[in-house]
Amino acid sequence: MKTNFKDDTKEAAVTRFPSPIKDLPTPMNDEEKIAYIAERFREIMNVLGLDLEDESLSRTPYRVAKMYVKEIFSGLDINQFPEISFMEDHYQINGKGNMVFVKVHFTSFCEHHFVPMSGVAYVAYLPKEKLIGLSKIPRIVKFFARRPQIQERLTVQIADSLATLLETEDVAVSITAEHFCVAARGIEDQNGHTTTNTFRGQFDSVSSLRQEFFEAINN
Ligand SMILES: [Zn+2]
Repeated sequence: MKTNFKDDTKEAAVTRFPSPIKDLPTPMNDEEKIAYIAERFREIMNVLGLDLEDESLSRTPYRVAKMYVKEIFSGLDINQFPEISFMEDHYQINGKGNMVFVKVHFTSFCEHHFVPMSGVAYVAYLPKEKLIGLSKIPRIVKFFARRPQIQERLTVQIADSLATLLETEDVAVSITAEHFCVAARGIEDQNGHTTTNTFRGQFDSVSSLRQEFFEAINN
């Protein structure tokens, strides 16, 4: 049986560990946001001394604004959270207590410098009553990645969201990412990767399960 979860569950799945977001004094639709950002980005380019008359540059303010609103920061809009249906595990499809493990490549943006971080999220859970379609986990990862982020928050938001949707605390998320703000600015190790983990429930309390998770990552 497939059931669509209720909207309050969806909201809880998005906001349990919130991003620093606040409402605009005057709400704007996407087109208004794009026009507003494009105008400001044009000023930034002007101050940098770039020639906005140049054919290659003239549409850049609009391109950047549209990319921010519609693509790389679209996860700031809660309505973009993927539609999730789940199956009740009546038939023990996965088998109770067996770890579900998914690997997801993602790109996000560092909120300190607004440049990309690129990496892999390893996500695991122990099903209780519910199973979620495997294709949905990458969509949840990508939803939270499409925000200005710090890696630690992204890790926790994915874990919290899944724990809320699946009604289990037995969730693990490990993210390894490369931060271009580090490489591009010529500081620290150029090949530096950062790993952040969050272990909940049995992934926290049972070391053999955590071990199983790390073995899945290393395979
Ligand atoms: Zn940064």
